[in-house]
Amino acid sequence: MPEIRIAASAGFCFGVGRIVNAVKKLSDKHGGGIYTIGPVIHNKAVVAELEELGIRSVADVSELKTIPRDKIKAVVIRSHGVPPHLTRELCECGYNLYDYTCPDVAKVQKSAANAGKNGYGLIIAGDKNHPEIIGIRGFYEEHGRQAIIVANEREASDSIFPDTVKYDFIAQTTFDAEEYGHIEYILNHKHINFTTHQTLCRGTTTRYTEAKKLAKTCDIMLVLGDKNSSNTRKLFEICERENKNTFFIENLYKIDKKLLKFLKESDMIIGVTAGASTPPAMMQKIREQILELRV
Ligand code: SF4
Repeated sequence: MPEIRIAASAGFCFGVGRIVNAVKKLSDKHGGGIYTIGPVIHNKAVVAELEELGIRSVADVSELKTIPRDKIKAVVIRSHGVPPHLTRELCECGYNLYDYTCPDVAKVQKSAANAGKNGYGLIIAGDKNHPEIIGIRGFYEEHGRQAIIVANEREASDSIFPDTVKYDFIAQTTFDAEEYGHIEYILNHKHINFTTHQTLCRGTTTRYTEAKKLAKTCDIMLVLGDKNSSNTRKLFEICERENKNTFFIENLYKIDKKLLKFLKESDMIIGVTAGASTPPAMMQKIREQILELRV
């Protein structure tokens, strides 16, 4: 029989669990009519389940304004946070607003705002298109400067940092600690005058470290989650570096043929981890499915 090892840190993180519970409670209270700017979490199955409860997302405030006011019972800021101008706009519109920015993200927003207030430059390690980064840079850029965002060491090498400026260096909460260290090394190598602020989310760092160890000791590694989730994609990259038999599983009912062949072989050690937006039920289901294949 296969041995299935599920990482203790797999699945919903604190910030995601908190907002999913919160929107469900709001929906219970108001009977639906709950809106978020962007999906509550990056997981299609959970988003579909929430839609059934009257929890819907809009792309932006202009779309929200097209919805009749009496249909909107509450507007929720999700765990990624938003730029401060957006919070002000939502307040000015008079919506019943709930801010569920994850406390760890709020700390990074504060660091960015401080850099702006102090007149420092700001270097952010992260994905410039990710909503968390859009929010964080908004806290900095309202002080009249532009942040420099680098996704990896190559971008850090290619970027130009005016050397008359003193910088603060921060990261997206779900950034990989190892990559962060590599970028820091490049900044030092370029003689940039900067101070590093530790902004990585502890839960995510633990998840990545645990997944890395697990991937090294298993025959195959499964990463469960949605391809739209940046932390799940990162988790996959980390595991794949350690174990070439790493598979990304978005849908338990569409498992690829190479993986099925592996799963049917005997005495395999199968490692399982999952992104911060993967519901706990998916971990239990994959265990049941693997065991069913072996019957
Ligand atoms: S990954 Fe970390 S920072 Fe992001 S929502 Fe979850 S707990 Fe908060």
